[in-house]
Amino acid sequence: MRSAFQQHFRSVLSAARKVHCRAKQPPAAAAAMAPLSSKAGDPDLTAPAPASTISSQRCLPEPSPFYAGSGLDVWTMMNQAAAEVGAVNLGQGFMSFPPQCFIRRAAQEALDQNVHNQYAPPRGRPALLEQIAARFSPRLGRQLDQASEISVHAGANEALLSVFTAFLTHGQDHEVILMEPAFDQYAPNIAMAGGKPVYVPLRVLAAADKVISSDDWKIDMAELEAAVSPKTRIIVLNTPHNPVGKVFTRDELAQIGAISERHNLLILADEVYEHLTYGRDHVSIASLPRMWERTVTVGSAGKLLGVTGWRVGWAIGPRALIQPTLAAHTRIVFTTNTPLQEGVASAMRQAVSNGFYEAQRQEYERRRNRLMEIFDDVGLPYVVPDGAYYLLVNASAVRVPQDYLFPEAISSRGPNFRLAYFFIREFGVSGIPPAEFYCEPHRYLAGDYVRFAFCKTDEGLDAAAVALQKLKHHLQSE
Ligand code: PMP
Repeated sequence: MRSAFQQHFRSVLSAARKVHCRAKQPPAAAAAMAPLSSKAGDPDLTAPAPASTISSQRCLPEPSPFYAGSGLDVWTMMNQAAAEVGAVNLGQGFMSFPPQCFIRRAAQEALDQNVHNQYAPPRGRPALLEQIAARFSPRLGRQLDQASEISVHAGANEALLSVFTAFLTHGQDHEVILMEPAFDQYAPNIAMAGGKPVYVPLRVLAAADKVISSDDWKIDMAELEAAVSPKTRIIVLNTPHNPVGKVFTRDELAQIGAISERHNLLILADEVYEHLTYGRDHVSIASLPRMWERTVTVGSAGKLLGVTGWRVGWAIGPRALIQPTLAAHTRIVFTTNTPLQEGVASAMRQAVSNGFYEAQRQEYERRRNRLMEIFDDVGLPYVVPDGAYYLLVNASAVRVPQDYLFPEAISSRGPNFRLAYFFIREFGVSGIPPAEFYCEPHRYLAGDYVRFAFCKTDEGLDAAAVALQKLKHHLQSE
């Protein structure tokens, strides 16, 4: 015999099912990518769920449309496509070589001390704050106070999200200006924090059918200023720039700074590649007169030490900007992992005296030159990067057959995605379609560029050189 309560409960439940249950289809993009990702033995997370799972999930709360509607991120998409055919992966910007021995040992030693296996203070471990202050005080032209002007984050990504969260307010339509191409994480992070990105593209002031300088990519300052509205709160500045490799000049920084002063805006300076410049000096905008008080500078141990998986980054700025950033960080992740903060601190201390930074910079410059030679050889022009570790190659001369078959998930993302996919399938080399770094109306500006990363081993670059020989037979002029 069921109790009255049980009967009542069952009838309420069944009524609720009638109201709330709607059969859900898996997200279209994920389903369409499924053929690319199926590998024997691996669970295929992008494949449609089996019918039995769908029906048992019918009554679960629906995910936020913000996430339910989004397709695969470009990195997963291109990594999967590359793995499928065993392509040389020059796509995502992770190092394919191991970190130096002294860096690995620093982390191993940190793990061996019990205290380093427990929570760190939300602001960060004192040893790391000290090293960040030591490195960046001279670069920013002031003695940094590690107790109030620095916060340690779970990678630069989380530092960026913390700044957006701290300075944008839901329901207020706050705007953030992004210069395109813009690192793909900015826009969704701004939206998560309740803000709206406003886009100003870098303009290419040279004929892109030849090798050009990254300095030929310019921000039209009048266009930048015209994008400012009473709702604008922040300008995001990325120098050295991903994916262009542009290192903003002191004069450009001064002009951007003047705009931020005229309209009382914050500058979020993403300087994760500050240590990688080739024949040019990196200038931090926060070191320019009057810029300190309105700038948060973000950095990354992942980039600085070649350990992108450690997820350690930082934000530097005046107390008034770091305090709310730290408050947001405390609610987003609470603290950054302790042992790797200690590992980074120890490695940074050693790197000051063992010559690591300059040796690393020279290595990257050598790899950059090697990748440029490879494209010189196959006959495709590119943008010479003055910083960071990406090469934008103009592949407009590559013939893609009209009837070439692309998976729907690629095809639906436009010609720039199709081109990057064609490189993977036909030449066995993966890159990233820079269209992902533009808003929808500006996607056409990505043109026929493909971004290749050169934070890769010599063997990887040699393999790319061999694979790309096939490309010579696909050039328009043939
Ligand atoms: N900013 C830029 C411009 C980047 O290229 C990256 C990483 N690719 C990040 C931020 C994120 O750095 P991290 O790995 O430290 O989160």
